[in-house]
Amino acid sequence: MQNTANDRMFLTMALKEAEGALAENTYPVGAVIVDEQNNVIARGRNRVHIAKDATAHAEIDAIRNAGQVILDAKVSGRMLTIYSSLEPCPMCTGAILFSHIRRAVWLKNDEEGFGGYRKIKNTMVFDRRFSRVVMEKEPFDDLKQQQEELMNKWAENPYNVVNLRKAGDE
Ligand SMILES: [Zn+2]
Repeated sequence: MQNTANDRMFLTMALKEAEGALAENTYPVGAVIVDEQNNVIARGRNRVHIAKDATAHAEIDAIRNAGQVILDAKVSGRMLTIYSSLEPCPMCTGAILFSHIRRAVWLKNDEEGFGGYRKIKNTMVFDRRFSRVVMEKEPFDDLKQQQEELMNKWAENPYNVVNLRKAGDE
């Protein structure tokens, strides 16, 4: 069930995780997994640089942190929601489908970057899986702006690959 106040609260929480990722010099994306009673099951944030793990995206981190709950939800059909500060990439979209998460909400579409959820959904290749997931994109303009500000700050971060390459050229 959609509830605007709860969505706002959990997306704000995801944004806080994104801030944490940026503070750790990694691309600012955060994610939160919530159950049908609005209990926070797990939080995650992009940890690519700090973990030296190219797969340590926010959604993957949150799904890993949710552990057994995800496996139980697959069996019992529990309604888990994942909140992300940015549209999930192809890898995280796959992980969301694998995890039988039933609702995916994100703050900002990712057109320029590696956003994959809508692109893969539009192929209809995994139509049956996607049809079980409610998609909710960019519900709050002000919070979306905060995510954009974090991404702008990331552009200046020394660990940004563009800046790493530049430093390598010097
Ligand atoms: Zn991802």
